[in-house]
Amino acid sequence: MISNSKKIIRVFYGGLAAGLVFLAGFLFFSLPSGRLELHFLNVGQGDALLIQTPEGYNILVDGGPDNAVLYELGKYLPFYNRQIDLMVLTHPHADHLAGLVEILKRHQVNKILTTGVFYGSAEYEKWLALIKEKNIPVEIANHQGIMPLGGQVHFFILFPEISLENKKIKNVNNASIVGKLIYGKSSALLSGDFEDEEELVGKVDLTAQILKAGHHGSDNANSRKFLAAVGPKYAVISVGENKYGHPNQKTVENFEALGAKILRTDQPGGINFVSDGQKFSLSPVNPYWAWLFSAP
Ligand SMILES: [Zn+2]
Repeated sequence: MISNSKKIIRVFYGGLAAGLVFLAGFLFFSLPSGRLELHFLNVGQGDALLIQTPEGYNILVDGGPDNAVLYELGKYLPFYNRQIDLMVLTHPHADHLAGLVEILKRHQVNKILTTGVFYGSAEYEKWLALIKEKNIPVEIANHQGIMPLGGQVHFFILFPEISLENKKIKNVNNASIVGKLIYGKSSALLSGDFEDEEELVGKVDLTAQILKAGHHGSDNANSRKFLAAVGPKYAVISVGENKYGHPNQKTVENFEALGAKILRTDQPGGINFVSDGQKFSLSPVNPYWAWLFSAP
């Protein structure tokens, strides 16, 4: 007969061992994967993209229209990692900005990239005030050039070419940061809600394997001329329920004519890409805790 105290000791050590295995697995699978990962987040009608670099940096491009981004981020950032190494605001419309305000409060944000364009909204004022209060370094996108993101990853800023800081722009969509995320031979083109895309054709190398469809798939972006210059294999439309008719049928047809695979953030499953530096592939790898539920 085993005494009660021995039983308790066995249960204790058994539990401890199981806990350590669990913790080891948890930590192992939440380490940087050594690949570049893109997670287009489902934040409803808005944009939010989490980029995780091979060196383990977290970069967030836009934050969607509300706090939905917090839940989405929680899928990819372990609870003990609240670090956003770079926060990019393409332009200050609420469907790109609002979620970033809460992230500034809850996460440790190390750097901001923005145009600094003038925009008179309370949310924007709040976002700017929080950045100042937390003393976060701000880089103003004001010329074409490379922004290193660690290792072989960089962001090639294509627009704006001049400073828009504190300037009033009639259509703030056209104050969006446009840039190409490059890792080795693989690249993704991000353009916020930029509508003057055709003006870039012929001036800069727009080719990219992934295109985040301009302006949520609206027909005032994504023209055939522009798409032909990009030649994407994948078109990601960041969209939710909306009254604007996004994505526009013409845009969808333009992508289809090009043979691009269309992916929408409002479809189940999430949109995740990984790149080994050669090309991007769609990845079934979902949340960092998904290994818990996968077959051995
Ligand atoms: Zn938008």
